[in-house]
Amino acid sequence: MARRDIQGSRAIVTGASSGIGRAIALELARQGGKVVCMARREDRLQVLAQEIESLGGSTLCVAGDVTDAAARARCMEAAQSHFGGLDILVNNAGVGAIGPFETADPQRVRRIMEVNFFALVEMTRSALPLLKQGRRPMIVNISSILGRRGVPYNSEYAASKFAVHGFSESIRAEFVTAGIDVLVVSPGTTDTEFFDQVIESKGGPKWPEHKAVTAEAVAQATVRAIRRGSHEITPYLWGKVLVLLNRLSPWLVDKLMARYV
Ligand code: NDP
Repeated sequence: MARRDIQGSRAIVTGASSGIGRAIALELARQGGKVVCMARREDRLQVLAQEIESLGGSTLCVAGDVTDAAARARCMEAAQSHFGGLDILVNNAGVGAIGPFETADPQRVRRIMEVNFFALVEMTRSALPLLKQGRRPMIVNISSILGRRGVPYNSEYAASKFAVHGFSESIRAEFVTAGIDVLVVSPGTTDTEFFDQVIESKGGPKWPEHKAVTAEAVAQATVRAIRRGSHEITPYLWGKVLVLLNRLSPWLVDKLMARYV
């Protein structure tokens, strides 16, 4: 039996202007959710809003940077004033960088941690008062397979996603008394604009050919997990294999990774 019904639920989705966030916002709207869509590119958000409205859904756009406290506050105000509260917070906005650690500008790790980790933490903090009043509330943190196993030339990104995992596991236990569920989603290679938007690309490993999944498939798996009240999902077969192999023999995975440096 489903733990929660999306119909009538009120959500905020960060990073909704493209990729996985956009697809999650659409899937929530398709299932009857009301969605505050947040990202920096307002024109993209307006197109998404039209699409949601054409499906008969309710939405509101908040243009802003997730690292900006005022923009985060605007999301909460939008959920409260337009939908009367908040039930689901989807912390999805994220950026990456590809390249060796040794020659990376120190700003690279700072920016990645700001967007992928600190903003997610502060968004969660700002949402708590509303979520505590919500109906079957849930926090959904979009992490990555790289939050379960680090890979070469992605050190800052992997560190930010490991931080998301640690934070999520801790608050999941803390928030049980408040009735707030915490779901961590660990996508693998997904066909989005992510790799075009990396803040720096200085050459990465040449991985064996592997097929990307669609943002829609990740979104459908995520919304299914929200309904079920799952704690963690890995919507990528090879990701599951990597995590399992790493659990069984981290030494072997280290050896395999070293072949791609
Ligand atoms: P996209 O680049 O398509 O989407 C990223 C979204 O984040 C955009 O909507 C972008 O909007 C938003 N965003 C980025 N920086 C900020 C910011 N400072 N403030 C507000 N919004 C921001 O990539 P994906 O859809 O693939 O990425 C979504 C999540 O999935 C990320 O957390 C990523 O780490 C994770 N992920 C992706 C994988 C993949 O292979 N694609 C694999 C594993 C995890 P805008 O530029 O308009 O602000």
